[in-house]
Amino acid sequence: MSFDLNSLVRENIKKLVPYSSARDEFKGEANVFLDANENSLGSPLIKWYNRYPDPLQLKVKEKLSAIKGVPVNNIFLGNGSDECIDVLIRTFCEPGIDNIIICPPTYGMYQVSADINNVAVKKAKLTSDFQLDLEAIEEAIDGDTKIIFLCSPNNPTANSLQRADVEAVLNNFFGIVVIDEAYINFSRYKTFSSSLSEYPNLVVMQTFSKAWGLAALRLGIAFASQEIIQLMNKVKPPYNINQATQELALKAMDGIDQVNDMIRVIVEERELLKNELSQLPVVEEIYPSDANFFLVKVKDAKGMYNFLLSKGIVVRDRSKVELCEGCLRITIGTNEENRQLFHAMASFK
Ligand SMILES: *Cc1c(COP(=O)(O)O)cnc(C)c1O
Repeated sequence: MSFDLNSLVRENIKKLVPYSSARDEFKGEANVFLDANENSLGSPLIKWYNRYPDPLQLKVKEKLSAIKGVPVNNIFLGNGSDECIDVLIRTFCEPGIDNIIICPPTYGMYQVSADINNVAVKKAKLTSDFQLDLEAIEEAIDGDTKIIFLCSPNNPTANSLQRADVEAVLNNFFGIVVIDEAYINFSRYKTFSSSLSEYPNLVVMQTFSKAWGLAALRLGIAFASQEIIQLMNKVKPPYNINQATQELALKAMDGIDQVNDMIRVIVEERELLKNELSQLPVVEEIYPSDANFFLVKVKDAKGMYNFLLSKGIVVRDRSKVELCEGCLRITIGTNEENRQLFHAMASFK
């Protein structure tokens, strides 16, 4: 067996004639644009907001390409990573027939997106140290498995998956392997986005929502082979990234030095908070973090969660999640916020 992209794509997507917008059909120079039923008089906002945005976001991709070292043709942009997940499922998974594999505990949107699309979800639970269970994955794979979603660093456990395990999945599964790297900027390990030419079945997802500090813009990234990117472009809504987001993302990428400074500060705060919290008797375990949050096991998770709420501090209660029993997920805040958290947790009886 070997990888054959064509055999993975849904029949209706193979046959699909994608929507052709006015912006797709005319790309030359002109002064008078009467082809898209826009308001030619202008807009109450910035002048050019009366015009539809670039459907393929070329300027954003060119700048991102220079930063990430990934060619423009290997980049897809989504309205958040959540849209990338949805587009991948709709491109490859026939509802009611095909399935995806996820490795819980992990990010909730893979399951939700599959459920919305009526695509079955098979689970290959992580091991007790939150690594891939390669045997469980092998057992879960069947002839209708189209996508395996891996998340590294993983949410909510915060650790990175072992690279050799991820490579084993990439080498032995002939469907699509998605590696969600939403937290890669906080990690000690290197991205898989430089391995696209090695693995035709690889999709790497990143996002502007975490390290870049732009969760409100809704801008997610998928890196993959040109062939996969072309399929995703066919399936996505024509104008999925709005003009304001495209402009603000371009501007944000000029601020990469500030972003790198913030990453350094967050990683420093993470280590500081880890040392402090590990001294508290109520804290049973702080799991290793390659992300901007911790999974923390405490003596009375529900009680601690409510106590923190009463102090105006909201964390995520993950204590009912399999393998995360008794755990809270705590995002690294500002220095001041982390001090508040520490003192609140220290005063919990
Ligand atoms: C936060 C997060 C994302 C980001 O999703 P966006 O839709 O881009 O905001 C993606 N994957 C994981 C695992 C996350 O935790």
